[in-house]
Amino acid sequence: MQLQNLVTLIKLHDKYFKPFISAKEIDDVMQRLVAEIVEDVGDEIPVFVGILNGSFMVVSDFVKKYPKPCEVTFIKLASYEGVKSSEDIQRLIGLTQDLTGRTVIILEDIIDTGNTLTEVHRIFENEKVKSLKIATLFYKPEAYKKDFKLHYVGIEIPNKFIVGYGLDYDGLGRNLPEVYQIKETQHMTNLVLFGPPGAGKGTQADFLKEKYSLVHISTGDVFRYNIKNETALGMLAKSYMDKGELVPDQVTIDMLNAEVEKNADANGFIFDGFPRTNAQADALNKLMDSKDSQINAMIALEVDDEILVERLLSRGKTSGRADDADESIIRNRIKEYYDKTAILKDFYSAQNKYFGVDGVGSIEDITVRLSTVIDKL
Ligand code: AMP
Repeated sequence: MQLQNLVTLIKLHDKYFKPFISAKEIDDVMQRLVAEIVEDVGDEIPVFVGILNGSFMVVSDFVKKYPKPCEVTFIKLASYEGVKSSEDIQRLIGLTQDLTGRTVIILEDIIDTGNTLTEVHRIFENEKVKSLKIATLFYKPEAYKKDFKLHYVGIEIPNKFIVGYGLDYDGLGRNLPEVYQIKETQHMTNLVLFGPPGAGKGTQADFLKEKYSLVHISTGDVFRYNIKNETALGMLAKSYMDKGELVPDQVTIDMLNAEVEKNADANGFIFDGFPRTNAQADALNKLMDSKDSQINAMIALEVDDEILVERLLSRGKTSGRADDADESIIRNRIKEYYDKTAILKDFYSAQNKYFGVDGVGSIEDITVRLSTVIDKL
């Protein structure tokens, strides 16, 4: 089974960040910048000036790649406060050497508003340098408000807050070898409640959704609601459900997407009865990705087949569900689970997101077992 990997988020202080630019991509871009600069500088010995703190990684990696003699120095300005680019820049450490007649190349990690550049140009105004050039790894064209020429640009990025590779969020994140982008939507907790028919997913979801303020989506319930209201979707689903077979993937996926969209402000979801196939698991990943989110855990209620049959037959006496009334249909539903659904356990296990919970016992005991897993996530 080849399913797309889930995005790994990181948390710095109160905010979540998602992977944006890999260490490999950065390395390639740095190599290109070095090549462009060495071509222009030729045999002169340039002075590279890093702007602390953010540029320390850029400068370090840059000069390690620089194939000819060069000098390196730093100046320190303070410009960032949290995620807002501050207008007010202070000079904390200025130039300490005479740069008269030298070719100076500023190495920046990022240029956004360009405020730092104003200060840099002010610093160099009175130095009689031969030339002053600006190189930056990242550049946010949408944010740039100045006219200073940028001589060497690594990667143009959208106007979103990033961390890593020297860039920080309130002090954290500078050490990351790759770059992360701030996650727009708030953090969600998304659970897949898993297990064969009759395992108690619906019962437990009712408790968990209250306790964790999550939206519960049971694909079975949505289908039954549509059948009751005689919608086109209901009519289509009914023919499969009556036999205990799965409704076709595309129909189910479209419906699930629509249900999630209806709850755009949710803290997260409990998916119950979904995903049931590889295609559905893949679709769920894509949906979570599109929300800058992920499935945190698949929690499975484990119950023996014979207990399931017994439970479903007894539920059938009051539920009015046609698929609970007939033992052979029940067994077919359980078989569908083992044939098509149980393999999803491997997919989530491989990401250390599978948690099996004993589904036999009192309802309260099982809720406690599930909560113990969720609280540890
Ligand atoms: P449930 O209420 O989860 O036991 O589901 C009842 C029936 O609805 C199943 O036997 C299927 O026919 C249909 N169904 C529910 N969820 C799905 C799904 N994710 N994919 C396909 N069919 C589903």
